[in-house]
Amino acid sequence: VERQNPPSEDPLCPSAPPLVGESVAFGVVGGPARDPRVAYLRRALPVTQKLLDSTAPVDPAEVLRFASPCAAAACVHFDGANCQLAARIIQLLPLAVDGLPACAIRPRCRWWQQEGKAACMRCPLVITQRRSASDEYRVAATPVSERSSSRQEA
Ligand code: SF4
Repeated sequence: VERQNPPSEDPLCPSAPPLVGESVAFGVVGGPARDPRVAYLRRALPVTQKLLDSTAPVDPAEVLRFASPCAAAACVHFDGANCQLAARIIQLLPLAVDGLPACAIRPRCRWWQQEGKAACMRCPLVITQRRSASDEYRVAATPVSERSSSRQEA
């Protein structure tokens, strides 16, 4: 039987750097360079070195979305109870779709578990590693403690 996810049932972070043997790829970045969107894969793919090498010379996180076990307290976005990155995405990013995208990792996704449909309907706008990001996206991706005081929030 083919597994679609890593064996543990711990929550997955849906905007994580890829780790061979621990992560899965679940989306592909498409659309115009100025307005990229994630298209979700029907099945999540285990991350292998071959998969990561296949995007060279581009950073894999610029063209794929990966999910990895949530690092919880070891992550700058975790406040002890919740993922603040998910919370900021809900607050700051516009709706990207008007229905739930089909997503292979949903049952284990921390953003879904925490924020529900509101996260999924903005999730296609999240590109883990972006060369040119909108102001709203930059603010959403930056922990409050690391923002300059002059930054305006949308
Ligand atoms: S937020 Fe929703 S669409 Fe995005 S990875 Fe999680 S379950 Fe999938």
